[in-house]
Amino acid sequence: MSAALLDSPSAAILAKYEPVIGLEVHVQLGTRTKIFCGCPLEFGAPPNTHVCPVCLGMPGALPVLNRKAVELAVKAAVALGCQVNSLSRFARKNYFYPDLPKGYQISQYDEPLAEHGRVEIDVDGVAKEIGVTRVHMEDDAGKSIHDGFRDSDRYSYVDINRSGAPLIEIVSEPDMRTSEEAYAYLTIVKQVLQFVEVSECDMEKGQLRCDANVSVRLRGAEKFGTKAEVKNLNSFRFLKLALDYEISRQIALIESGGRVMQETRLYNSDTGETVGMRSKEQAHDYRYFPEPDLVPLTLSDAWLNGVRESMPELPAARRARFTAAYGLRDYDAHVLTATRALSDYFEQAAAASGDPKNTANWVMGDLSGMLKSAGREITESPISAQHLGELVKLIGTGELSGKLAKEIFPRMFETGEAPAAIMDREGLRQISDTGAIERIVEETIAANGKQVEQYRAGKTAVLGFLVGQAMKASRGQANPGTLNEIFKRKLG
Ligand code: ADP
Ligand code: ZN
Ligand code: MG
Repeated sequence: MSAALLDSPSAAILAKYEPVIGLEVHVQLGTRTKIFCGCPLEFGAPPNTHVCPVCLGMPGALPVLNRKAVELAVKAAVALGCQVNSLSRFARKNYFYPDLPKGYQISQYDEPLAEHGRVEIDVDGVAKEIGVTRVHMEDDAGKSIHDGFRDSDRYSYVDINRSGAPLIEIVSEPDMRTSEEAYAYLTIVKQVLQFVEVSECDMEKGQLRCDANVSVRLRGAEKFGTKAEVKNLNSFRFLKLALDYEISRQIALIESGGRVMQETRLYNSDTGETVGMRSKEQAHDYRYFPEPDLVPLTLSDAWLNGVRESMPELPAARRARFTAAYGLRDYDAHVLTATRALSDYFEQAAAASGDPKNTANWVMGDLSGMLKSAGREITESPISAQHLGELVKLIGTGELSGKLAKEIFPRMFETGEAPAAIMDREGLRQISDTGAIERIVEETIAANGKQVEQYRAGKTAVLGFLVGQAMKASRGQANPGTLNEIFKRKLG
């Protein structure tokens, strides 16, 4: 802890206060090209290779709005429950920074694309609605690179590739009261935007960025306290840690007779602290004014309806369909709709197996477990949805026992092969042929005279032992149901 920080408040003191949190989330839209020019978007491209007069901010170069970016922004707004304005306006937000060659960002100000949305979150089974104030469009700045070069102690470098990348900013109402609620809100926003294919929301690629506004007030107080804005939260974990730290800091400050200043603070993930960056007095005056090089954005009802109709299913709707159409438990439907990719995988596998419930069990159990220990995402699963479905089907028809399936599964994971291919190569088909099983039973009975006697004397529990011996003799391939039946018949 830094010297300036007061002791962390006790739980009793923390409980006297109520945190108030509002998030500003930036999402990079998944277009092929930039928002106002035709330069391609390619994460990780060599610096300054995807630039042109427009995104370099050359005088006289004129922006042209990317239609696809508008479509994706509208999809996001609709998915977040917003009303889309038929007229919105771009505005210049003026500030100087080396990675902002134009000297201004093109954003939207008092006439944003969409407003009045809401997102439903769930924390420990308690549902709550979080208001979405607005969704607006803007262009991204370039990137300053402060380290990694031989002379980074003296120089910073600038990469303009990201300049002009299409963004939406999603501003929430100050409706969250705990860091868990903020975490849940960001989770849902990400999930919803992934489902409607607005963005992959990969935080590591900067496609999802979040700033948190936090204040505290005495419980029962009506007026909000003064807020601080915390920046540099580049993971979900950091969002939660930074909020918890900042809430404690503000409470400790107030308890010791101090006052929270309205300021921008930076989260330092190495120390776990937030540090003041600039105060209100130093705050930017962006001198917003309407962008003279772009006409107002007008969206016809027909076009908006077209976009609405093309929207993929939202997570909540998909969840409801999974319980209704497939008879899944609510919990399972929740797990399987956590991401678009997982829900697509499950549906493809279920279609291949014809048995949604058992497919759900395999996806949530063995497959998820194995992916997790291999550090892989469902999109990188070596077992295709089709093959998993085939496995479940083979169990259903009795061609594969549950035990054999568990043996084959890791091999499918290793080789990416179809289950039938592995079964054929390794001779692992379940034996359901009665004649073959009868022979195994007879041999087992002949070899275990003592146990057979015990069974006949009424100690029926030894049947388990005998079945086990026969199963072993069949190398685990005998159909257990048939095996049991034949034993009972033969032993009388
Ligand atoms: P600013 O004028 O600083 O941009 P806004 O009123 O536009 O502030 O709000 C920016 C963000 O801060 C929003 O997400 C909003 O919900 C949140 N916010 C506003 N007031 C508070 C507060 N007192 N405590 C916490 N968050 C707040
Ligand atoms: Zn360009
Ligand atoms: Mg504001």
